[in-house]
Amino acid sequence: MGRAFVYVILGGGVAAGYAALEFVKKGVSYGELCIISDEPVAPYERPALSKGFLLPEAAARLPSFHTCVGANEERLTPKWYKEHGIELVLGTGVKSADVKRKTLLTTTGETISYKFLIVATGARALKLEEFGVSGSDAENVCYLRDIADANRLVNVIQSCPEGNAVVIGGGYIGMECAASLVINKINVTMVFPEEHCMARLFTTKIANYYEEYYKSRGVNFVKGTVMSSFDFDSNGKVTAVNLRDGSTLSVEMVVVGIGIRPNTGLFEGQLTLEKGGIKVNGMLQSSNSSVYAIGDVAAFPVKAFGETRRLEHVDSARKSAKHVVAAIMEPDKTGEFDYLPFFYSRIFTLSWQFYGDNVGEVIYYGDMSGSAFGAYWVSKGHLVGAFLEGGNREEYEAIAKVTRLRPAIEDLTELERQGLGYAVTVSQKPVASPAVEVRASDLLLEKPLYAWHATAGVIIAASIAAFAYFYGKKRRRW
Ligand SMILES: Cc1cc2nc3c(=O)[nH]c(=O)nc-3n(C[C@H](O)[C@H](O)[C@H](O)COP(=O)(O)OP(=O)(O)OC[C@H]3O[C@@H](n4cnc5c(N)ncnc54)[C@H](O)[C@@H]3O)c2cc1C
Repeated sequence: MGRAFVYVILGGGVAAGYAALEFVKKGVSYGELCIISDEPVAPYERPALSKGFLLPEAAARLPSFHTCVGANEERLTPKWYKEHGIELVLGTGVKSADVKRKTLLTTTGETISYKFLIVATGARALKLEEFGVSGSDAENVCYLRDIADANRLVNVIQSCPEGNAVVIGGGYIGMECAASLVINKINVTMVFPEEHCMARLFTTKIANYYEEYYKSRGVNFVKGTVMSSFDFDSNGKVTAVNLRDGSTLSVEMVVVGIGIRPNTGLFEGQLTLEKGGIKVNGMLQSSNSSVYAIGDVAAFPVKAFGETRRLEHVDSARKSAKHVVAAIMEPDKTGEFDYLPFFYSRIFTLSWQFYGDNVGEVIYYGDMSGSAFGAYWVSKGHLVGAFLEGGNREEYEAIAKVTRLRPAIEDLTELERQGLGYAVTVSQKPVASPAVEVRASDLLLEKPLYAWHATAGVIIAASIAAFAYFYGKKRRRW
């Protein structure tokens, strides 16, 4: 039994949905594209699972959050795929891949062959067992990666009203789940080994803001230790979490968010891997020219950093999906993927966005005792990253633009004084003088991603030039 398609997307998550929309926009023919997913539903916006999906009232449910609503694009229901002649093979895993023969073998025994394969297999949640702790298959221990996990989590939440939960892990999933549990009136204790939450991205100062807010909502933090074992009742339910520091926390439920591992298994030994993912070039093409990779599973060159990175964020899944379709269908018209890393989260009434890289010196701005504040990262004399909590649309756009431009920063004190105003000014100021003070290479304007970048780029170059000229006269602080 077998079928053949021109394009096959392996995996039916965020990246697959956005790639499907782009294929249709670029005129894919009826019957040319197939998506294979082991999930039983059409691609959806995964971030909704830890946010709207967990609300106690008016919770988000499919079909409301199928891709591509997260980017204000069309919502692709199963009907949409059918109408566009896209074969959706759902609830079906791929158990082996042969990149030389260009075939995939599914769990139903079907061989599906392709001309072009896009690997969009995402990642799986790491299990406690991988860290030597057993018992995570207990009915009141939850992970959160897919819709089945989310349904299970909702059931467990509903089974222990006003109960006690331990959230293991202080990253994205831990933080967002903790907030959702609190909204569901569950008492939450967060346990993680780092000194503060969101340790990969936040500085201590930024983390402190969120931890204080969480505490004000009743969340307890146990930091600098890890769990060592569970206690169970006679039904196999977890009743307590034992920590390595010797303490014990009584629980009705546990949520585990300790990281993810990219689903590369099918391609180990067949494709070059890097940073835990499938290594691709600027066209998102792997070491086999017929195989491309996008989303969480792809390790791609991030031009702004001059190195290969693998990102675990929805925006990179969406944008890499869009780019790979152009790279495959219009290779002569498509340049290299030039992506500015963008992460965001929404927790309680808080909302933050981050662009770029969190290396170098950190300059804080705004009111950290209020509702809006942020930070810039300055490395080797250039602004390379920007964070903002509580901004409006224009302000978030401003920090995105300024980060993409990587302007030279001569005076950190002045940057701190101007704060968010610096990003806003740089991104809005009309042309004031020729861009003679700033090297083009500093501005990364050679290949703008979108048309507005090109236009804005010219304007911003001049603005930065004016800024650089004015502040360049001040003494460098490093
Ligand atoms: C609960 C949650 C909340 C999140 N919130 C945010 C957020 O607020 N902001 C943010 O930036 N990012 C967030 N993320 C991360 C974001 O969702 C991911 O970066 C994004 O989903 C990656 O898209 P992807 O298509 O690469 O992988 P996925 O969306 O994970 O899709 C991969 C798909 O491939 C399928 N698959 C894997 N292996 C096989 C196989 N062998 N055969 C068939 N199918 C297979 C999987 O079942 C899945 O359907 C969140 C993630 C989760 C889990």
